[in-house]
Amino acid sequence: MADCLFCKIGERKIPGKIVYEDDRIFAFEDINPQAPTHILISPRRHFASLSDATEEDGALLGQILMVAAKLARERNLIEGGYRTVFNNGAGAGQSVFHLHLHLLGGRPFRWPPG
Ligand code: AMP
Ligand code: ZN
Repeated sequence: MADCLFCKIGERKIPGKIVYEDDRIFAFEDINPQAPTHILISPRRHFASLSDATEEDGALLGQILMVAAKLARERNLIEGGYRTVFNNGAGAGQSVFHLHLHLLGGRPFRWPPG
């Protein structure tokens, strides 16, 4: 999508610290990290949020979760625990409307989240 920040990062039209990519998915460091590890994992294809996903997107969403698990393993986050979050809609804190999974780790997290 022409005017989407994360589409542009995925296409390397604007800078981003990309830490993983394949033909369907890319992952990059959050510009305003909320934990020692804070990575965003997105599909290359634009869709705004989980609410726009369909049955056919199930495998892609699973792959996004598996990329999170792989990055968590590589960064030794298993023992301390890590959090994966999709914010869906402004009311849930979504500010960039290109689907992304937050991977957060390296510090303790409370529940319920704010
Ligand atoms: P959300 O609020 O769930 O939509 O998450 C959007 C995230 O994108 C926030 O954590 C921002 O810090 C992050 N963000 C915004 N602009 C950029 C950027 N140019 N590069 C990397 N992360 C960004
Ligand atoms: Zn986009």
